[in-house]
Amino acid sequence: MSHLNFVSSVPEKPEQGHCSKHGAFDFRYQAMGDRFVVLSACSLCAAESTALQVKIDEQNAAKAARARLERSRIEAGVSPRYSQVTFADYRVDTQDHAQALQEAMDFTQRIKNGGNGNLILSGRVGTGKTMLASAMLNELMPQKKCRLATLSGLVRELKDCWGKGAAMSESMLLKQLSELDLLIIDEVGQQRGTETEILFVFDIIDGRYKNMLPTVLISNLDRTGIREAIGDRAFDRLRQDGGKVVAFNWGSMRSAI
Ligand SMILES: [Zn+2]
Repeated sequence: MSHLNFVSSVPEKPEQGHCSKHGAFDFRYQAMGDRFVVLSACSLCAAESTALQVKIDEQNAAKAARARLERSRIEAGVSPRYSQVTFADYRVDTQDHAQALQEAMDFTQRIKNGGNGNLILSGRVGTGKTMLASAMLNELMPQKKCRLATLSGLVRELKDCWGKGAAMSESMLLKQLSELDLLIIDEVGQQRGTETEILFVFDIIDGRYKNMLPTVLISNLDRTGIREAIGDRAFDRLRQDGGKVVAFNWGSMRSAI
């Protein structure tokens, strides 16, 4: 930082400086006490650098907001590799893919508009179900409170409630899960459900049914398999909730559903 130059009076003809970019310019003189500071820098350059700084600040703020949103999606259960995916990233090779994408987009739009309904994404491993579900959640957050969790993860949370000194009670966990704007339960039927798990799933789905909130199930099983995995009562509740349950058919799963 250069030290300030002072003059005792403003010259009749201001001194001139030369900017390599803007050419010749007049010095400016600013009163300070009984003297005048000589402003010998190019004011156009100064204005440009201020504008540039504003732009950089805006870019940084936007970047921070994106990072915050991404973090909140990951906290909501989206895997880091899907924390940025959108519907546009979903690869559409077949009519089935296009149909699946359309159903997911329609469902998401309905929830966005405050509507209700449930959805079952059923199909083989590697058909992009979790990715599509992540895109749904990404689209709805941060306006809607969402969660994506595996069924075994939810059961683990339930069991954590039983321990001594648990952070939350079973009823608190159920209340929390029943009040989310969207709950996506992944890997349904991955392992054989115990009696406790089947009751727990029913409680979640029933709680959300009573609150008229949408639930999405993802499973590698077909409709019959899902029904067996979560139990008749939970399955019927899902279908009862005003909206339709849409089974997604991919490839060879089609004949099985
Ligand atoms: Zn300049």
